[in-house]
Amino acid sequence: MAKAGSSGTGKSGTGRDKVGKDKVGKDKAGKAGAKAAKPTRAMVVVTQPAAQSFNSPPKVLIAGAGVGGLTLALMLHARGVSCRLYEQASAIREVGAGINALPHAIKELALLGLLPALDAVGVRTSELFYMNRTGQVVWREPRGIAAGFDVPQFSIHRGRLQKVLHHAVIERMGPGAIVTGRKLTGFVQDEGGVTAWFTDSIDGSGSETVRGEVLVGADGIHSVIRSHYHPDQGLPRWNGVQMWRGCADFPAFMDGRSMIIAGGMSGKLVLYPIGEGQTPQTRLTNWVVNVRISDTPHPPGKESWSRRGRLDEVLPHAARFAIPGFDVLGLIRSTDAFFEYPMCDRDPLSRWTHGRVTLLGDAAHPMYPVGSNGAGQAILDARCFAECWVKAEHPWQALLAYEADRLPKTAEIVALNRKGGPERVIDEVEKLAPAGFTDVDRVMGYDERKAIVRGYAGKAGFTVQQLTKM
Ligand SMILES: Cc1cc2nc3c(=O)[nH]c(=O)nc-3n(C[C@H](O)[C@H](O)[C@H](O)COP(=O)(O)OP(=O)(O)OC[C@H]3O[C@@H](n4cnc5c(N)ncnc54)[C@H](O)[C@@H]3O)c2cc1C
Repeated sequence: MAKAGSSGTGKSGTGRDKVGKDKVGKDKAGKAGAKAAKPTRAMVVVTQPAAQSFNSPPKVLIAGAGVGGLTLALMLHARGVSCRLYEQASAIREVGAGINALPHAIKELALLGLLPALDAVGVRTSELFYMNRTGQVVWREPRGIAAGFDVPQFSIHRGRLQKVLHHAVIERMGPGAIVTGRKLTGFVQDEGGVTAWFTDSIDGSGSETVRGEVLVGADGIHSVIRSHYHPDQGLPRWNGVQMWRGCADFPAFMDGRSMIIAGGMSGKLVLYPIGEGQTPQTRLTNWVVNVRISDTPHPPGKESWSRRGRLDEVLPHAARFAIPGFDVLGLIRSTDAFFEYPMCDRDPLSRWTHGRVTLLGDAAHPMYPVGSNGAGQAILDARCFAECWVKAEHPWQALLAYEADRLPKTAEIVALNRKGGPERVIDEVEKLAPAGFTDVDRVMGYDERKAIVRGYAGKAGFTVQQLTKM
């Protein structure tokens, strides 16, 4: 962030006063210093404004075209707000493996008119099973429509979800809406806006200077904007759990739309279909093996998504799980390429917004992937940001209102995920009955198990009651 340091916008702890109040607040927005307005959750009417012109500067500059950045672009466009995305990757590719998008996030994507596109590439999850390592059921519940929501839960390849969003951005906003192969390398802000510098991500050449009213860092767990304002944050925090993830064409299990999570935080297996298979009897089946392998809090320098996993490393761990009727080792062996990375998050920040610059998605609140919430929370951030933007009288006020709504909620989920999220129910039962059980109700009562699982859903905002009253 070479140029960012010369901005005069202040480092962590000083930026808001200097940029927001002294420079911006007084003369441009009488209400800028007022308490941040609480955004409402009024329904979006999906409008399709004409593809925006890229001759005039966009209002919102977005660094990062992941799930968060792309959804933000669609949300802003639906409200007639111009924006442009800059993505360091040279193309939007189908990387990663499966994720689950819960009804709170799908509701937002449905309002953007994306349900048919999601149906074309994902699987409507029907039921969730929490099990111990030998496949005994600790908890089971219907999901999505079957659970009474008016929108489904989707099990989907992360890359396909990203593609759906990407296509929608291009179709609605035009090809100029996303500039790929461009990496944010610096920014300055002043009374009237933000100037950002993007360079070619491969050879660092061809710096492009762009002006916008605000800059949103949707640039993931390694966000350069976040590290600019928090230079001492250090490496992501690792809980010592190594994750291996992959997907392969494999015979369908249960009803072909069910999801299994077996084992607690120290050793977990996750299985779910994320797409049609090559034959009617098979599904593209996602698997994850999580194992605690270390006590050190710092990841071993490889927290990226790109390190290829090795069969000889993962198979001994996977062999500890026995799911009746499911050939776990066969699924892993039939996977062409799979990836490994440490399970990381970061401590919640006290603020995301510094004048005209803020954070969104994993850049703002990276969390452990338990409870199926990371991408979902990025989608909820995007909706909130767009609502705050159209309601506020000044960009500075919009960014603060967005932060005031989303920061506390996501910080709570980060904390809950550290304790295992809803999957903690498996840990608790395994602790009480490490050798298994004949009757789970005798190990831990139904109400106690329900309180763990549903308590998390309430905090993360995806109970049926929360979603149907919106
Ligand atoms: C194992 C695992 C399982 C998961 N399972 C789930 C799940 O079931 N459900 C769920 O909801 N979530 C899940 N998640 C989390 C989810 O994938 C993330 O929370 C989500 O993808 C975050 O989206 P994002 O857009 O904020 O960040 P990212 O997807 O990381 O996107 C950031 C983008 O910014 C770009 N970028 C970075 N730096 C720059 C720069 N300087 N300039 C320009 N561009 C830049 C990157 O190339 C990238 O495209 C899981 C995560 C993991 C690791």
